[in-house]
Amino acid sequence: MTPDQPVVQIEGNAGDDAVRPFQVEALDVRGRALQLGPALDALLGRHDYPTSVSKLVAEAVVLAALLGTSLKFQGKFILQTKTEGPVDLLVVEFRTPGDLRAYARFKAEAVAEAEAAGEATPGKLLGQGILALTIDQGEEMQRYQGIVALDGGSLEDVAHTYFRQSEQIPTRVRLAAAELMVREDGRARRHWRAGGLLAQFMPSAPERMKPRDLPGGDLPEGASIEEEAGEDDAWQEAQATVGTIADIELLDSDVPVDRLLFRLFHERGVRVFDPVPVRDKCNCSRERIAGILRQFTAEAIEASIEDGRIHVKCEFCGTKYDYDPAEFLGNPEDRAGADGEGTTEAVPGADADPPPGS
Ligand SMILES: [Zn+2]
Repeated sequence: MTPDQPVVQIEGNAGDDAVRPFQVEALDVRGRALQLGPALDALLGRHDYPTSVSKLVAEAVVLAALLGTSLKFQGKFILQTKTEGPVDLLVVEFRTPGDLRAYARFKAEAVAEAEAAGEATPGKLLGQGILALTIDQGEEMQRYQGIVALDGGSLEDVAHTYFRQSEQIPTRVRLAAAELMVREDGRARRHWRAGGLLAQFMPSAPERMKPRDLPGGDLPEGASIEEEAGEDDAWQEAQATVGTIADIELLDSDVPVDRLLFRLFHERGVRVFDPVPVRDKCNCSRERIAGILRQFTAEAIEASIEDGRIHVKCEFCGTKYDYDPAEFLGNPEDRAGADGEGTTEAVPGADADPPPGS
């Protein structure tokens, strides 16, 4: 292969539930692509969310997987929203190397109304509020958090805003999720599928990342640099190419990500790297939740007792735990050993609705 020929190296198939990193050298673009199948079906199957909420969670899971797989060290990537819409809390956690869990809290009536009105898009379900993206790579490393305002736009828009404001890397994201009917042994079964692609412009000369005809610094409110004339030609081409991705290409198992990447970039040459498998896996445990309960005041523990026991359900995976209250009501010194984990760690419900007195 001569150097001026495109590099097309696509061997095998990343398949479902694996993030495929890629690079288009000719356009100075790096990115990741993903199709979620069985892992997403299992994750959503643990919950009984209305369809529109499941779709929102699915898109958020794809986004978290695309962003989380950029972590270079062991750690967690957390996407969390706090909004006034029908879904007022959404948490997706990605833990290296590829564990995903998610939880949405919603007002059933408001979701049903939005669905009936045909307004149950992910953006509208969230409504006004904030989205926080947190990178937590353990005690040795500083926790990093970027916050973006939410105002009813799509999660793609939110991702673009985040990268423009916080990372200052020109970025394009495509996300799609749907529940599809699949024939299996002559019977129709519903399956959730989702997919996404993230492309970032990372030229070796950083000045190419800035729009040519616009002054540097903050843009006026509401302004957008995307698709603005004056952007680097390579990035304009990459954005236009990513813009051609149809939802079905991100969902259809007959168009795996490698085929999609080939379709998009074969003329320029695309190189793919080892896929990173992701899975539906919660990390709650008896001991971890006990650690959270140990941080509760005695009053809060008393208030949580039901039939002589404390019942806790992990909101991420639905696992139920129950404890003898005596474990948490003894001499405070006997209760030492709280592991210092935040309450959002395993029981988002406990964080959102603290028991009286805590
Ligand atoms: Zn769990």
